[in-house]
Amino acid sequence: MICEILSVGTELLMGQIANTDAQYISSRLSEFGISVYRQVTVGDNPQRVKEALNTALSRSDLVITTGGLGPTEDDLTKEMVAEYFGLPMELHQPSLDALTERIRRYHPGRPVTENNLKQAYFPKGAVIMKNSCGTAPGCIVERDGKAVAVLPGPPREMRAMFEGELTAYLEKISDVRIHSRFLKIFGVGESNVESILQDLFHLENPTLALYCGTNEVQARMSVQLPKGEDPGRVFDPVEREIRRRLGDAVYAVGRGETIESTVFRLLRDRKKTVVFAESCTGGLLASMLIENAGASDVLRESYVTYGEETKVRILGVRQRTVDTVGVVSTECAAEMAEGARRISGADYAVSVTGVAGPDGGTPENPVGTVYVGVADERGTCVKRFCFLGDRDRSWVRNLAAAAAFNMLRLRILGREIEGAQECAKG
Ligand code: ATP
Repeated sequence: MICEILSVGTELLMGQIANTDAQYISSRLSEFGISVYRQVTVGDNPQRVKEALNTALSRSDLVITTGGLGPTEDDLTKEMVAEYFGLPMELHQPSLDALTERIRRYHPGRPVTENNLKQAYFPKGAVIMKNSCGTAPGCIVERDGKAVAVLPGPPREMRAMFEGELTAYLEKISDVRIHSRFLKIFGVGESNVESILQDLFHLENPTLALYCGTNEVQARMSVQLPKGEDPGRVFDPVEREIRRRLGDAVYAVGRGETIESTVFRLLRDRKKTVVFAESCTGGLLASMLIENAGASDVLRESYVTYGEETKVRILGVRQRTVDTVGVVSTECAAEMAEGARRISGADYAVSVTGVAGPDGGTPENPVGTVYVGVADERGTCVKRFCFLGDRDRSWVRNLAAAAAFNMLRLRILGREIEGAQECAKG
């Protein structure tokens, strides 16, 4: 089945907003084995909306529109769909009742205007899709083997409608499903992953593709199956093989997983706590961890000790360490982690100290050098990272934070951390 997405909105054409609706719809349609051949955008102009509908329906089985469902005169998508199919507009009483109730609840005393009324009219025979987050319902019009689904523009409303009634419709009309499973990989570069998995890229069931992020790689397995078939039997053996080859570098399964959400779950499941002692990341680790709902179970306190004096005063880093080897050093990272663990009583302490740049680099520790320490009941280990390259501070800070989470992950799992130095307790 071929689909075209028609986005209606002058603000899209003027570049005032990004077309996130089309991106979302395209990404979701692939799950139903529906191919999106074109995304077209037109302004709020009746003639051009009609022309675009004509063209889209001449070359596709399904057209999904977004926008132009509002109460104002330039909101004309439904009307143009009705005109295309030669259908009259008809009042849908349940939509009018829902609209009236919504206005009564949220704007007591305000009358239902002619404009509001417009939102309860649909092409005759259309299947109406309720709008659980706004006033404008959507609809599906089917005729002569073609279908048009009309969705609202505001992303929240559009997604709710897509996930609800439109998904039910797509499940009905499509007899295949495309399933994907994402493996998240950390600490092995894209080209390395590529060569380690090389022969698996020739597989057809599932297919395998790599996506490279700033500091990680995602391997995506995809397979098209008849409706109702379990993709697990196709994915499981390939996942096992990938894990066999990449080992602990595979840190999670699932597109939305992150290194910090993985660490959060590991800590929570084991009922363990963590404390951070951050210098160049300036609170980034704590901030990333508390993105996870329930973070207070694992993070009770955290320290940003940016200056030398604070590292000594708060974390108990030895003045001698600062004077002899400096704060960007294995010793300082170890003492920061140990100090933070001691004063907080947390199970794990993670420290980060380094040179984010653009100034402050030395021949021994150029910009991009970061020491990460992890202290726990077994002791303390520190690893030196060099995030070199012509990048900015936030690049170095983000890589350092992700590397720190990965070190903590491996430590929680009881793994050896390659290149890390075990430090004697000071
Ligand atoms: P409303 O009932 O709010 O008028 P509508 O269905 O008529 O909704 P539009 O008026 O076209 O939709 O757009 C309303 C808002 O929704 C836009 O100002 C924009 O913020 C957002 N929006 C519209 N289309 C898109 C899109 N394709 N991608 C992302 N956001 C969009």
